[in-house]
Amino acid sequence: MTVNARMPESLASSTGTITVDLGRIAANWLALADKVAPARCAAVVKADAYGLGAERVIAALTRAGCTTFFIATPDEAETARKIAPSAEIFALDGLVGNAAAPFAHLGVKPVLSTLDDVVAWSALCRARGEALPAAIHIDTGLHRLGLPLRDVRRLAAEPSMMAGIDLDLVMSHLASADNPRDPKNRDQLLTFETLSALFPGVPRSLAASDGLMLGPAYHFDLVRPGYAIYGGQASQIAPAPVKPAVTVSARILAVADVAPGETVGYSATWRAKRPSRIATIAAGYADGVPRNASAPDGRPGGHVLISGHLAPIVGRISMDLITVDVTDLPEGAAMPGEFAKLIAQGLSIEDAGYAAGTIGYEILTRLGHRFTRLYLDDNP
Ligand SMILES: *Cc1c(COP(=O)(O)O)cnc(C)c1O
Repeated sequence: MTVNARMPESLASSTGTITVDLGRIAANWLALADKVAPARCAAVVKADAYGLGAERVIAALTRAGCTTFFIATPDEAETARKIAPSAEIFALDGLVGNAAAPFAHLGVKPVLSTLDDVVAWSALCRARGEALPAAIHIDTGLHRLGLPLRDVRRLAAEPSMMAGIDLDLVMSHLASADNPRDPKNRDQLLTFETLSALFPGVPRSLAASDGLMLGPAYHFDLVRPGYAIYGGQASQIAPAPVKPAVTVSARILAVADVAPGETVGYSATWRAKRPSRIATIAAGYADGVPRNASAPDGRPGGHVLISGHLAPIVGRISMDLITVDVTDLPEGAAMPGEFAKLIAQGLSIEDAGYAAGTIGYEILTRLGHRFTRLYLDDNP
């Protein structure tokens, strides 16, 4: 594996790095594809491939054999089409604004989740005199996007509303798939089976990263994982066959002694109970370290890894800096100029999310924009 040759010169002065292992991302997708076969496995690459860089990720997944991508917005559709000229691309947010014409031009399939969207796409098909592909999203209980029951029945009863549309996929999305024991999964499965049967012969898709771990009954024709491809563990109980693909490091700027009774950080929330050593690290909430990972009295906060040792974040997280207690680390373990790890083996994105009262997804998608990005190539 090689580090992208364009990047390292900027490392000398960088405050932090995000290392994205494209080979691991490709391997994760292959493992998921293998798990769900004979169903097909797409890749969800919305939000700049969950913050990791859509262009690099789409290229790597394409080389691994992925031919179906889901994005959310028109801008993301344009990027995906540029990188994957012959892939099948679905746009989850549907016909946002004036997206219909650009989608038709790019050959992107909108996921239609309102009757207005269906009518608008059908009108475009008729105006252009050609059948254009699209998906419909039906609501089975998440009550977010998706055609409600009465609109699904109306569409099925009045197929003229879909005149011209080449219906390529019927999909829905699960609310509680991260908990395999939640009866809502089965309810949504049954509703999906009933409602999708109104569109016979059209391929079906229900499961994302957590849903595909619920078993083959949830796979249908196509699964749509995002988070798991990037190494995330979405299910609370059933681990996906994937491994972490992201490492985040930030520079230690200073290590200083703090006397008992002294406080550290804004609002003086942390007070030293013993002679302490505090390392100040060049990462803050502007870099995606949630301010909620500060440890207020009593509640455990976040950690960083320094030379393989976990060190707790103490005091308030500020915009550009965090302070960590390195008193218990061996002498010389924390040195200014070296890098502390914020996400790495032994400190997962799930750990980082849990410590901040959020989920790994939020950690991943907010990772620092001013950190240097290093890509480990997928071709050995
Ligand atoms: C984001 C999204 C996905 C992917 O979800 P993951 O949990 O990241 O696998 C799949 N389907 C829909 C409708 C989504 O919005």
